[in-house]
Formats: sequence, C-alpha cells, structure tokens
Amino acid sequence: MPLRLYNTLSRSLEEFSPLDGKTVRMYTCGPTVYDYVHIGNLKTFTFQDVLRRWLRYRGWELNHVMNITDVDDKIIRNSMAAGLPLAEYTRKYEEAFFEDAAKLRLQKPERIVRATEHIDDMVRFIQKLGEKTFTYQSEGSVYFRIAKFPDYGKLSRIDVSGQKAGARVDVDEYGKDDVRDFVLWKARKDDEPYWDTPLGPGRPGWHIECSVMSMKYLGETLDIHTGGVDLIFPHHENEIAQAEALTGKPFVRFWLHSEHLLVEGQKMAKSLGNFYTLRDILAKGHEPEAVRYLLASVPYRHKMNFTFDGLHAAATAIERLRNFQLRLQSEKFPAGLSERLLERTREARRAFEEAMDDDLNTAEATAAVFAHIRDANAAIDSGDFHEGNAAEALDLVERFDSIFDVLKPTVEEGALSDEEIEALIAERAEARKVKNYARADEIRNVLAEKGVIIEDTRSGTRWKRK
Ligand code: AMP
Ligand code: ZN
Repeated sequence: MPLRLYNTLSRSLEEFSPLDGKTVRMYTCGPTVYDYVHIGNLKTFTFQDVLRRWLRYRGWELNHVMNITDVDDKIIRNSMAAGLPLAEYTRKYEEAFFEDAAKLRLQKPERIVRATEHIDDMVRFIQKLGEKTFTYQSEGSVYFRIAKFPDYGKLSRIDVSGQKAGARVDVDEYGKDDVRDFVLWKARKDDEPYWDTPLGPGRPGWHIECSVMSMKYLGETLDIHTGGVDLIFPHHENEIAQAEALTGKPFVRFWLHSEHLLVEGQKMAKSLGNFYTLRDILAKGHEPEAVRYLLASVPYRHKMNFTFDGLHAAATAIERLRNFQLRLQSEKFPAGLSERLLERTREARRAFEEAMDDDLNTAEATAAVFAHIRDANAAIDSGDFHEGNAAEALDLVERFDSIFDVLKPTVEEGALSDEEIEALIAERAEARKVKNYARADEIRNVLAEKGVIIEDTRSGTRWKRK
C-alpha cells in the first residue's frame, strides 16, 4: 500500500512520494520564541516528528528545514516589556524549546534557520516581488497586492470578492474577516528594533520569512509543508502568494496541518488555569515518554483532548510495552516455533504499517500492536509461545518504537546508566554465590534508592527503572 497523506490544498487523501523519488524536501513553521512553548505547540511538533520518522521508515531520505521566528509583533512586545534586546530575549526561549524538544525525543530537522539571520534574503525577495509589480509602498511599509494574485485564497478557500482595493493589514496575525493586502516590510516604528535596508529602515512581516527560507534551502517546489491548522490562514495562504507570485510555479505539493489540542475539553488559556507547558507537566512528576506517547497516539488531524487521565493511561501503555519487551528478552520459551502465532505477528505488523500509511493513523497503529501484545502474553502464559516466535515479536516492538520512541526510560541526571546497573547486578550475583548476603542486600538497596527494581527469576535477575 502506498503512503497516503491528507493534503489541505485538495482537501483529500493523496498518494505521497517525493518529487525526485528519493529525498523528501519538507518545511515546518517552527516556534515563535516569545515564551515557553505549550503542549498544544508540542502536539504539532510531535506530529512532525512522527511524520519524519515514518517517511524514513518508508525508505526515503529527508531534507527537513524548520525556522525559528525570532522577530514578530509578540516578540517585540514582550522583549520591550522585559527591557531586553531582541536577540537576548529570544535566545532564552529558543534554548528552552530545544530542551523541551529533546525531552520529547523530537528529532532535529536537518536544518534550523532563524528569521533574523535572513533579513538580506527577505529584502531581495521583496525587491523582486516589487519588480513584478506585486507590491506597493505606503508610509515606509511595503505591502503585497493580493488583487494581483488570482489564486489568493486557494488554500484556505476564503472569499476575496469583498476585498476593497488598497485595504491593508499591518499586524502579523489576523483572521479571515481581515482579508487584505498584507505587510511584507514594516516601517520602523518608535523605538522598536529595526534594520537599515534598501527598503528603508524597518523589519520583515512574519509571512515573508517562511517563503524566503524554505525556498532558499529547499528549492522552488517543496514536497511537504507542515504546521498547525491556525496557520492555514493567513500565514500559509500568504506564503503561497509570495512564493508563487515570484516563481510562477507551485510552491508546495502537500500541505499538512495538525488539529489543535484542547485541555479537558477547553481551549488552553492562562485565564482558565489550564495552560500547560511541558515543564509544568513534568514538574507534576509525569514522564516525558508518557507525554510523547499521548501526543503521538491521537491521529494528527483529530482534535486532541489532553487530560491527566489520558496521561496516566499513556504511562500504563508504555509500561505494558516495556514489560512485554522484557519478557521476550529474558524469559525461556519452549523450543520450536508456532506457525499460527508467527502469522499473527506478521498480521499485526501489516496492520501497523497500513494504519501508518493511512495518513499516519497512529491510533490504529497502536491498537494493532497492543492487540498483538495481549495475544502474545496469553500465548506465553499458556506455553504456546515458542523460542522461534520471539525474534519476530521483538522486531514488531522495535518497529513500533522506531516511530513512537517511548521504550527507553528517561534517565534522570545522577541516575545509574544501564552498564552501571548491569555491573551491580553481576556483583550481587557473585556476592550471593559466596553467601555474602549482607553485600547482596546492600546492592539491592543501592539500586532501589536509584529507582531500579530487580526481580530474581529462574532465568536470572531482571531489572527495570521505576
Ligand atoms: P507558534 O509558536 O505560535 O508559531 O506555534 C507553533 C506551532 O504550534 C504552529 O504550528 C501552530 O500552528 C501550533 N499550535 C499553536 N497552538 C496549538 C494548539 N493549541 N494545538 C496544536 N498546535 C498548536
Ligand atoms: Zn511559517
């Protein structure tokens, strides 16, 4: 089965493969670094990580670019309120974003680019749009003339017929009621940060950065462009207008948008007290793997209702997965092979892959793997599971984990490494052999203090982190 992805541009599922047959050229609108990212943002970034991993799983290479929006209205407002220079203010939140992303095991895109390091490219791009008469100036700012671009609205399907010629919008974010000529370059205002450029002193609007940086690194037509649904209008609509006005070629083949995260059924808002960053959640004692699992296991086009019950269920699912892997690795099974079970494992793998190929249906993919775990655990208990079945079952768990990446526990700073644990367990076994039970107990206690639980079985000592 080919991979099918839902393209916002056509509002339908389409078969995906990269234009050059080999490398997927993908662009992601990264964070606006004016504050810590919230778990809604992280739902969208986790979707992008799952997409990355699945494209790789399907054998393609990736050239994935993500930007950091380090200049926009919100950033300027907050940095001025904090009395800090723009760069100093944004660097803190950029670093915080990378820390959060690492905790959630989000793979780094091949290239991460900052808006403020591409001002010259943006200026040149705007100048070229000007040469093609897509822009006009007013009071030192430069605007995109949407009436000149007949395809305007094709992504968001907005109606531009009521648009008054020359009506403009200066803010970076606005709604569909404000379909107007949008700003490419904003004239310097009061004591706001600015750059001296051939366009005059000022700063770029938000939308231009993504058209410029994506095309600079990925070429005129990208395979995939991603973001949350709130970016469809105006941000992505404007990106298309800028790029296609310049090149006359399709800018993006597949537009993928992830739906929003709600908390306990409501929009996240500081005033509602339901606004969470990853830091807030980890401070309550939850594991980052559980957050990752929860964010990844709801298909990206579904609204996700974040609840603490859901987070507990995610932790339980991970535990089940880890216990199953441990059983496969450490228990002794009767010699031979059960053909019937082997076929069941292969069916589960097929179901897992088909679900992922179906627009990354992570809920069904997860269900297929957990149904198999239930079956296999029952077969192990009843003695039907044989030695020859273990490798294929383990392989399925590993394939699942190559996407979900939750098996390996997060090792806290100061915790023991796997090697240190193994060494202590070996030492304990030695101590027991020579009947030095005091030392053996001591080691057990040391391990317990470091959050490692051990269990002695017929086939040796098993261990796991708490
Ligand atoms: P921003 O930093 O505001 O530019 O947002 C970063 C990413 O998070 C963008 O792709 C947004 O569309 C996405 N996003 C914002 N709010 C939510 C939410 N509540 N749920 C899911 N994604 C979101
Ligand atoms: Zn963008």
